Amino acid sequence: MKTGVEKLTDVMAHFLGHTAIRLPDDVIAKLEELRDKEDHPLAKVIYRTMFRNQRLAEELQRPSCQDTGVSQYWVRCGTAFPYINELEDLLREATIQATFETPLRHNSVETFDEYNTGKNVGKGTPTVWWDIIPHSDQCEIYTYLSGGGCSLPGCATVLMPGEGYEGIVKFVMDRMTSYGLNACPPLLIGIGVGTSVETAALNSKKALMRPVDSHSDNPRAAKMEKLLEDGINALGLGPQGMGGHYSVMGVHIENTARHPSVIGCALNVGCWSHRRGHIIFDKDLNFTTDTHSHFVYEEK
Ligand code: SF4
Repeated sequence: MKTGVEKLTDVMAHFLGHTAIRLPDDVIAKLEELRDKEDHPLAKVIYRTMFRNQRLAEELQRPSCQDTGVSQYWVRCGTAFPYINELEDLLREATIQATFETPLRHNSVETFDEYNTGKNVGKGTPTVWWDIIPHSDQCEIYTYLSGGGCSLPGCATVLMPGEGYEGIVKFVMDRMTSYGLNACPPLLIGIGVGTSVETAALNSKKALMRPVDSHSDNPRAAKMEKLLEDGINALGLGPQGMGGHYSVMGVHIENTARHPSVIGCALNVGCWSHRRGHIIFDKDLNFTTDTHSHFVYEEK
């Protein structure tokens, strides 16, 4: 019989491994929708290859993409969750366990010392962002396998107020017409708006955690999401950048308030292999996930 810490570590290791192999339900549905809407012959071939890749990943129990990224966790943890004190250490252990069991590619290189730890952990990795939720005993964890070609190389800037919201559009479109193809389309575009370079950057990552096809609850931001989606689709990148009518799975904007003299904005791009997971534990470690309906955990 496992202790609570051992069980939580084991569930997280298996969940992370599962997300490396099987894409989230909403991403699969969106890829099917875009595949069916494309009429370019090459786009059809690429989607067929993607779905064959996914079928083989599950049959052979291998990762969806060779770059299994850096493990990132956004934790929304209640102050009364019984494992709050152990959580960061156990997520590190879960990452090591998933690295060897799944397996995941070794993607943690100690900076300056320049050696690969071989375990996907290092100084400050995996990345853990915390939101502490008062008066709650549950814990919600977003997992993300962040690839070196997609959502690790985001970018951020702080605009002068005179540049206005048009400045955000220019910033995004300038980047999409240059580095957009660095990741494998169709892309999920995360845009963060805030008061500084770091708040905008974190907002842009959180934007990628929203369900595909969701919209900002601010009507003006939601309108900008739609306009940017149409504008980026009009670039004609298509799947894998080989041409097509649909270049994006969606555009998500997350925003927080700003100082009147600045507009911080950031761009973060998820690729077609958008390996995000979302799992929620209660205090007894019963869990639910709304991203991976096929995830089954068997305690051994
Ligand atoms: S952009 Fe995504 S699908 Fe392409 S190589 Fe990187 S992780 Fe894999």
